[in-house]
Amino acid sequence: MKATSAGDGTGAAATTAAVPTARPADGGAIVIDGKAVAAKVRQSVSVLAHEFEGRFGRPPGLAVVQVGDDPASSIYVRNKRKSCQESGIASFAHDLPAGTTEAQLLALVHALNLDQRVDGILVQLPLPGRMDPNRVIDAIDPAKDVDGLHPVNVGLLAQKRPRLRPCTPYGVITLATEYGIALRGLRATVVGASNIVGRPMALELMLAGATVTVCHTGTRDLKSEVERAEVVVAAVGKPGTIPGEWIRPGAAVFDVGINRTATGKLVGDVEYESAAQRAGWITPVPGGVGPMTIAMLLSNVVAAALLRAGNQA
Ligand code: NAD
Repeated sequence: MKATSAGDGTGAAATTAAVPTARPADGGAIVIDGKAVAAKVRQSVSVLAHEFEGRFGRPPGLAVVQVGDDPASSIYVRNKRKSCQESGIASFAHDLPAGTTEAQLLALVHALNLDQRVDGILVQLPLPGRMDPNRVIDAIDPAKDVDGLHPVNVGLLAQKRPRLRPCTPYGVITLATEYGIALRGLRATVVGASNIVGRPMALELMLAGATVTVCHTGTRDLKSEVERAEVVVAAVGKPGTIPGEWIRPGAAVFDVGINRTATGKLVGDVEYESAAQRAGWITPVPGGVGPMTIAMLLSNVVAAALLRAGNQA
């Protein structure tokens, strides 16, 4: 078994103690089963959604808005609608033609903000290039922002009072919790600093008590930032960004990246095989973080419905 505190130099007992000491007999990492955890989250969402309907006489509702017919977006949107049905959440489809103007989209968002059957509003990104996604997200009522990307919700997370939490980072935290990875005190490196994943991921990790470093295209020495991390979250969108040999023995590795190789295979940002030899835990791609994003979206819809019902009572 590999040492878990090599090169740390802090001598922080709490930090090193949380890094795994029990690994599978073959010496490889514990492979985090995102599909199984997502199914568990969805099961509890379904119970809460049916309870909500029993109490309030209507199911929680999600409006899913798509502009145009980008094939990848269409698959995501279809999956979200299907997942709603399976979880007892009403889904309201708004498929707008590619030629829709930003003003028309904003008018729809305003109407959905006022629609009492709608607890969550999801505008599928990316939007056509002529539209400003920030203006569209800003227009969503923060109480219905189930993607958790509205500045109000990100701001609340930054202030340690999370309300509707950004789905993918929230999914990573849920995986860590389910696998008993105690994040408090750990050194975490987030690779990627986007508004959707990297930045809110850093806020979530701070909320969980980790000591967080965020890397981006301006980072001088990515290797050393990853090497000392006990938790690595990769969210770049480039295969092979993190070679397995950079992974600190025993670290927890969450690979958010989704990349398609020339042969059509889906891979993450981390070199999986070699990283899995060193890591304590690792998420595969596919089947790791991916299934959690939609599960946390559904969880946010029920949370938004309950919050709104409480506010209206
Ligand atoms: P993005 O392009 O908006 O951001 C990428 C970030 O990576 C930027 O902050 C950039 O500075 C940083 N970066 C680029 N090259 C780098 C390098 N060499 N070293 C360090 N940092 C570097 O992407 P995004 O929307 O955050 O998505 C990232 C990846 O996650 C993509 O593969 C995307 O498909 C995937 N994703 C997955 C899920 C999921 O549910 N699993 C959800 C959202 C995004």
